[in-house]
Amino acid sequence: MKLKGIGAAEGIAVARLWHMEVVDLTVEKREGCNPEKESKRFADAQHVAADELTALFEKTRQDDADAAMIFDIHRMMLEDLDFCEGVSGLVAGGCNAEWAVQETGNMLHDMFQAIDDETMRARAADVKDVAGRVIRILKGIREDAGMPHEPTIVVAEDLLPSQTVALDKRYVVGCVTKNGSVTSHSAILARSMGIGCIVGLGEAFQYIPKDGILAIDGATGEVIADPNEAEISEYAGKRKAFEEQKLLLHQYMDKKAVTKGGHHVEVCANIGSVKDAEEAKKAGADGVGLFRSEFLYLDSPDFPSEEVQFQAYKKVLEIFSPKQVIVRTLDLGSDKQAPYFNIPPEENPAMGYRAIRICLDQPEIFRTQLRALLRASVYGNLHIMFPMITSVTQVMKTKELLTSLKAELLKEGVPVSDDIKIGVMIETPAAAIMSDELAKLVDFFSIGTNDLTQYTLAADRMNAKVSNIFNAEDPAIRRMIEITARNAHAAGIWVGICGEAGANTNMTSFFVENRIDELSVAAASILKVRRAVCES
Ligand code: PEP
Ligand code: MG
Repeated sequence: MKLKGIGAAEGIAVARLWHMEVVDLTVEKREGCNPEKESKRFADAQHVAADELTALFEKTRQDDADAAMIFDIHRMMLEDLDFCEGVSGLVAGGCNAEWAVQETGNMLHDMFQAIDDETMRARAADVKDVAGRVIRILKGIREDAGMPHEPTIVVAEDLLPSQTVALDKRYVVGCVTKNGSVTSHSAILARSMGIGCIVGLGEAFQYIPKDGILAIDGATGEVIADPNEAEISEYAGKRKAFEEQKLLLHQYMDKKAVTKGGHHVEVCANIGSVKDAEEAKKAGADGVGLFRSEFLYLDSPDFPSEEVQFQAYKKVLEIFSPKQVIVRTLDLGSDKQAPYFNIPPEENPAMGYRAIRICLDQPEIFRTQLRALLRASVYGNLHIMFPMITSVTQVMKTKELLTSLKAELLKEGVPVSDDIKIGVMIETPAAAIMSDELAKLVDFFSIGTNDLTQYTLAADRMNAKVSNIFNAEDPAIRRMIEITARNAHAAGIWVGICGEAGANTNMTSFFVENRIDELSVAAASILKVRRAVCES
């Protein structure tokens, strides 16, 4: 059966489908339980968890002995006396094992978190991880909730960024979702992984079977459930043509993107991890135009420490040095939620508590990230960029914080680069309108067309029902871009595009006419964009 969705990331695949279930680890307290029975349930779950951790340790050890150690630590925590006694005590009082594990986990987490030592604080996240594992087992949910270890097309109603980062990428060859749009973060991730992605299937989603084979074409949005032999061979042909096209683009690998009129455009990559940076480098990126640093947070069971962040930024800077790396500070909130932030549900999360608003409201979170960035700055060409800016005051406050943290580090004897460039994202109508004033405060702009389109056209970027309105080619968005580019250049600063429109080659000539200096796109789109610039 042929179904039609929105093609959100190019890529062709024929593979087994797998419905991703949302793993619900919420726990309710039950009282008056039989202590003996609950105690046995806990002991059994502890055994299963230990077996899982041993298997993970063995599997990981082959690739990365250091990374494997974490599973060994988790195994020890599972048997830790404080943990076991904490659970036993609560169970003896008549409550259910799940709740006892959750409470004990939380108590130990808070205890570790309060210790004034970086290494011990890092253990707080591990305790939560171990408790989560035992709770999952007690609730009867399997480790990977059944994702097959073979090429798989992941099917889900919605694929949240936090779920996407948890998937075993070695086996994911495509994804299909009922909701979402081209600029939803699952689609962005699929593009960075270079796999096909179809979103917004809507009502047609119900016709996807529980199991079986799917054929997908991420360019056209076509999904075939249970394809017949003719369809499978048609898709094999399409896949071959697609791969040939990719090969043809290789001639643009070492070329500069210069238009016929002589305007040079840097073609950079959007990344979310160190691994993405390696891929982007191989794909020929001129630098990093957008490192979505929030993925470090989404990929972690608790706040990533200053040291963990420092190591990640340092590696990315080293990979690209001396080319530019733009790290965007934390842009959490809306569809990107990390549970440990404890952001209560909001009526209108896209317009709510997110990004720079969280960072300025909770400076202790921001401090950790900015210190990590400043420390990493000596390892390459660091640019720091602030998301969701709506006012001049936000930029001034952020710069003040940065200056004081720099002084603090220098006083501690930690070297910090003298040449860090500061920029803001232009992704709200307020920022575009105020871009003449903002330009006086920063070294560069990067236009986030995803959010700029959402806010300017009042069309939710996640809602497939308004995807006909959500269009970065709309004259209103073009005008926003024109205003921003004009104001940037008048102030003598450069301006780039890091939203998904950067890779839309229908818009390349418009960008070139507006003297856009940089286009930052998914690694898989770099050569295509470079060709489009050269042909403009
Ligand atoms: C944007 O809004 O265009 C952007 C690049 O940021 P994100 O997609 O991460 O919101
Ligand atoms: Mg954005």
